[in-house]
Order: sequence, then structure tokens, then C-alpha cells
Amino acid sequence: MPIVAQSTETTDWVSRFADEVIAESERRAPGKPVVVASGLSPSGPIHLGNLREVMTPHLVADEVRRRGHQARHLISWDDYDRYRKVPAGVPGVDETWAEHIGKPLTSVPAPKGSPHPNWAEHFKAAMVASLAELGVEFDGISQTAQYTSGVYREQILHAMKHRRDIDAILDQYRTKKPAKQPQKSQKPVDEAELEAAEGSGAAAEDDGSSGSAGYFPYKPYCGNCEKDLTTVTAYDDDSTELTYACTACGFSETVRLSEFNRGKLVWKVDWPMRWAYEGVVFEPSGVDHSSPGSSFQVGGQIVGIFGGTQPIGPMYAFVGISGMAKMSSSKGGVPTPADALQIMEPQLLRWLYARRRPNQSFKIAFDQEIQRLYDEWDRLEAKVAGGTSQAIGAGGGSALPADAAAHSRAVRTAAGELPRTPRPLPYRTLASVADITAGHEDQALRILGELDPANPIASLEEARPRYDKAEAWINTHVPADQRTVVRQEPDAELLKSLDEPSRQSLRLLLDGLADHWSLDGLTHHVYGVPKVQAGFPADATPKELPPEIKTAQRTFFALLYHLLVGRDTGPRLPTLLLAVGQDRVRTLLGE
Ligand SMILES: [Zn+2]
Repeated sequence: MPIVAQSTETTDWVSRFADEVIAESERRAPGKPVVVASGLSPSGPIHLGNLREVMTPHLVADEVRRRGHQARHLISWDDYDRYRKVPAGVPGVDETWAEHIGKPLTSVPAPKGSPHPNWAEHFKAAMVASLAELGVEFDGISQTAQYTSGVYREQILHAMKHRRDIDAILDQYRTKKPAKQPQKSQKPVDEAELEAAEGSGAAAEDDGSSGSAGYFPYKPYCGNCEKDLTTVTAYDDDSTELTYACTACGFSETVRLSEFNRGKLVWKVDWPMRWAYEGVVFEPSGVDHSSPGSSFQVGGQIVGIFGGTQPIGPMYAFVGISGMAKMSSSKGGVPTPADALQIMEPQLLRWLYARRRPNQSFKIAFDQEIQRLYDEWDRLEAKVAGGTSQAIGAGGGSALPADAAAHSRAVRTAAGELPRTPRPLPYRTLASVADITAGHEDQALRILGELDPANPIASLEEARPRYDKAEAWINTHVPADQRTVVRQEPDAELLKSLDEPSRQSLRLLLDGLADHWSLDGLTHHVYGVPKVQAGFPADATPKELPPEIKTAQRTFFALLYHLLVGRDTGPRLPTLLLAVGQDRVRTLLGE
């Protein structure tokens, strides 16, 4: 296999994990591709926070590929898991979906109006589209497809044969007896009660049940009602004959496990089985799976039964969301990666994950913070572009090596550059322009063309997709009372009430307007007017000026905001002035 020199410096967490993962893979399976894995449950809209489950191994796999090794990033779709609850707020779904609780996610109907064949496929599709936009290359594995086609048959029979060993391992971590599964009853059991009894949410971990026939790490889905409310009542190792009874519908049957494909290993056994089956070397997990007695820790012991070894598995910290409290997501009340990609370019989202170690928590901004984040990103881009730093770890330039590495991981993968916005104008400016022009693209283009008259943009396409993201942010995440509405008519009363210094400041501004009509020019001009008014040159530096100038500037800016948009704040003034246009500025300022 090709061995390319390792990067000269290990500058960031991704490089360090790649070092470890490559070495470990060579030790375990010499000459084979490096296997990293993620698991996602399409039990509802896949939360943006869960993207870390994918981005962490993605970035490591990508670094492995950059070094010339082969890597497989498996995404295990846990679509054969039981449907646990009906998520709130999903369009096209009502309370009747509760009747499917207990069935595999692929046996639950998709929300009404969905083009997808079932529940799992519906939510998987949205995630797949986001991963494509993010440049995440992966092999998706449907656990429904695996289990129902008998791919894991040997592993299932092996687990059943060694059920006492598995039970003994699990027993070390059991603090209390597992909740008794309801025994065969005459009448169907209320599923809501069962659901409440076992705890809710996908994080609830299942390690199998011990009935009168002993412990079994395998659970069939009922042949009559398709639900997993079944209890194995007998199993014969030699014939592999298994008898189960369904507590939901009363159905019972005896099957031969050597040819039966409608059931699965319980989660705490299923996960380590797959580590062994796929040869997974790296799979991080969230805090909920990493605590003592959790599935990752227990899996580390169970994996040996399947002849495998536990992967390197860092715990990743929680990813928070800011600014989504007021704005509910369009898809089920939780922000999804698609929601984030509506308002930010994939590079920015990749960067958020790349620059923080997995054990560091961070927030993804849907509020005003996104503008600051973009400013920071643009500064980094400028530093990287200005420096000599080309490759990860090369250092140089003015970007710190770790920052340059995070930038590189954000903008490209081993497969190439992610599509870029040709003219990445400041997000803040684009957001203001979208805010003020409210969907009028011709106006937006005029304003954007005037930002830099020496090198004007010729078409809105040059500013896309960043412009579209900023526009989506304004339209979906900025509350109506924070939107900018330019006055239709001058505020005659306010204009009439102005004192002489205020009138003079407006005259100074208007006199120089035409000569300063660009983003840089107007920036200089609006700060310069109060200086000139106080008898200083327009380009005097803060050191040459008395502190009162700052107050005068603030007062002047507030006056302009009032006259232009009827409030005391708004988008940055140079952007606002360009957006309003020279003629209208003159009218509104009382010329
Ligand atoms: Zn049943």
C-alpha cells in the first residue's frame, strides 16, 4: 500500500488521532483500509448536535486519506432499531403514529406527503443530502438490510451460544435487576405504559432480557404485529430452534434461528458485534454512551467474544445551538444539519467541528453571533491566503499552524476543494443588504456592485451561495422587530427639531456623499464628519483626538439611524447608506 510521508508536524487533534489510528490499523489489519465508524438513528429529524458523531471520524478518515492511505468511513444507519416514540412537531405526522411504536423504524410509515418509502428512509434522506453538501464521503450501511438478509447470522448464532458469557459481563455493570419484561398476557399490553416503564429516548440502552428461560441477547420482531415486545421463551443450541411470545398481540411461534431473519441483537451486544465484523479502528461516542457501565465500556469487553478489539473511541462533548429557542425549526422543532446549511456555507460548519477537540463543547450560532463567526472566518481566510502556509503543518504565514490546519480541513477534503463562493463578501454586509432589499435582487446587485467600485461584482451569482445563506438567515432567524425597514418618507418633525450642529453634520455628510460612495469610502466619511465638525482633519487617528469625539460619533450615528430607519441602531452605516441609495439618503436626510 502507498505510504506517504506523515505530515511533518502534528498540529491539531485530527492529525494526532490519524497518527494513532493508522498505527493501530496497521497493527490489527496490516495492509487493509483504515475503518472508522459512526452510528446514526433515523428515529426522527437527526439533530444538528449529532453531526459530531459523523464529523469526528470524517475528519480523521479524511486526514488518513490525505496521507495516501485508504480509509472507509462507515455510517451505520440504525434503522432496524425499534420506533420508540412519536417526535413532536414533525409535519405530516399525528398521534396515530403511536400505533407503530415497537416496530423497526423501516416498518413505520413515512410522514404524510413524503416521497420516501418509510420513516427511517425519510429522515435518512435529509441527512444524506446534508452530508453530501458537507463533503463527507462514507459507506452507508442499513442495519435493516444487514439483519433481514442474514448478513449477521453467524454473529447472532455465536452470541446465542455465548449468551452466558455475555450475561456475566453485563452483570458486572448491572446495579439493579433489569426491569421485568411483561410476561405473556391474555390481552394486549398498553404500549404507552411499556414505553414509560423502560424509559424514553434513543439513549435508553437495552442489554437484553432474562426471563425464566435465561438470558438472551437477541430479540425477534413479532411475526404478527411486527413489534419487538417479544420474549424468548426457549432456545435450543443444537437445532437453533427459538420460541418467542409477543406480549403485545399474544402471538407465539417457534423458528429456526439458522434461517430466521427478523430480529436483532440487543444494542449492547449489537454495537461490539459490528466493531468486530467491520474491523472498526476508530469510533467516537457521545457522553451518554461513554459513562461507566455504558455501551462503549461494556462493548469493550463483549467485543472479545466476537474475536474483535474495541476501537479507539474518544468521548465527544455536547454541541449546543444558540438562537434556536425563539425560532423553531421547520422540521420537528430540532435544528438539523440542513437548517445550519441553510444559513452557513459548508466550510464554516466544517470549521466549527475541525477547530475544536472532540472533548470541547461549542455552540453553533443561529443568532447574531453568526455574523461575528463569519468575520472571524474571513480573517482566518485572509491570513491563510496571505501566508505561505499551503499544507497542513507547514506553518508559516501569519495563521497559527493549528488554525491553518482547521482552515484546510474546512475548505477541502482529500477529494478536493469544496465549492466556494467566488466573491465571499462579508456575511454581515450581505445580511444587511438582504435585510434592506427584502428579496429585490436587482437592488441587491446594485448595492453589492457599489461596495467596491474599483472591482464591482457583475452578477449576484458571484456572491452566491454565501448571499443566499445570509438572506435565509435574515428571513428565518432574525425576529421581525429586529428587521430593518427604511423610512418611506423623511421624518419631517425630527428634521425640523434639529439644532444647528446636527444640521451641519448632515450637510457635511451629504456634501461628501458622492465622493465617498463605496464601502471603504463611506466608512471613512461617516467617522470623519464628527472629526471635521470638531475642527480636526477627517483622517485624524484616535490618538490625535480628544475622547469627546467618540461621543460625538455615537450621537451622529444615532441621528442617522433615526432619520433612515426610525430606530437608534441598525446595520453598519456604510452598508445601510449604500443599501438605501444616494437619492433616497438625500431625501431622508432632508436635503
Ligand atoms: Zn405481536
